[in-house]
Amino acid sequence: MMFSEQDFIQQNQCCVHVEWAMGRLDGKVALITGIASGIGRSAVELFLAESAQVFGVDRNEAAGQALAETLDAAGRFHFFAADLAEETACRRAVEQCCETYGRIDILYNNAGVAIIEPFPSTDAEMLERVMAVNFKSVFYLCQQAIPKMQQQGGGVVINTASELAIVAQPLYAAYCASKGAVLSLTRALALEYARDHIRINALCPGPIATPMLQGEFDQAVDPIQAKAEGIATMPIGRLGDPAEIAQVALFLASDAPVLMHGAAIVVDGGKTII
Ligand code: NAD
Repeated sequence: MMFSEQDFIQQNQCCVHVEWAMGRLDGKVALITGIASGIGRSAVELFLAESAQVFGVDRNEAAGQALAETLDAAGRFHFFAADLAEETACRRAVEQCCETYGRIDILYNNAGVAIIEPFPSTDAEMLERVMAVNFKSVFYLCQQAIPKMQQQGGGVVINTASELAIVAQPLYAAYCASKGAVLSLTRALALEYARDHIRINALCPGPIATPMLQGEFDQAVDPIQAKAEGIATMPIGRLGDPAEIAQVALFLASDAPVLMHGAAIVVDGGKTII
């Protein structure tokens, strides 16, 4: 006996109904961090194109304002300048998002910093900075946003980890630790809030052509050689594009992946399968 897709959905008491037209985030409010550059900037453009209202946060006020001026978002984009290394800034960002748009449906924790340093010379200040931006901001923003999502009856959290939460690389001990912490936090929270209709997942990009990655190449003795070596690690023969990460963030933010809770989504052109 053949089963239709409808039979399967009914038997599994599943209520998936996905509109794959433009406007996949219609009516949704997304708080996105680290929007002034790279992946965050691409995500702003894509989420706006899919009809979301976007509350963008970045510590780079000039670049954030400049982005706001280039977007033709008709009131659907609000820029908030804040250094998310501060707990109070995380609280204010969520409060301001809810004051501006009345709710928060999607929290996309994207802001991050890279640190390339031999382990012995990674001092307390460097460690504190990378943990504060990459991990603690994610912790505090989730702490502020999740109760609001509970009150609203659900929501989506996307936490940016990295391929380096899963595999390792010399000179990246502090960065790897910060991203590993993001992944563990994501799993813990996904479990805690699964019954509240809050989907919490981690996005793990591989090497993506952004100012962050270029900055890492530029620290090498020979940046051109460093970039060539970076590309050589990619089975696809090129670096990733920020828009390719934004597309996966859009999928996670949409209503489609109803069964995804606590997943580590690796988007790396195959780098970590070698
Ligand atoms: P990017 O440097 O191009 O952009 C990061 C943005 O975050 C910048 O606009 C910066 O101003 C902002 N930011 C940094 N610290 C902040 C703070 N304290 N408060 C508020 N804003 C802050 O970087 P990107 O490559 O687009 O990276 C985005 C995320 O993806 C980061 O979390 C990064 O760790 C992660 N990631 C990137 C790669 C890659 O190869 N590019 C790979 C894996 C993971």
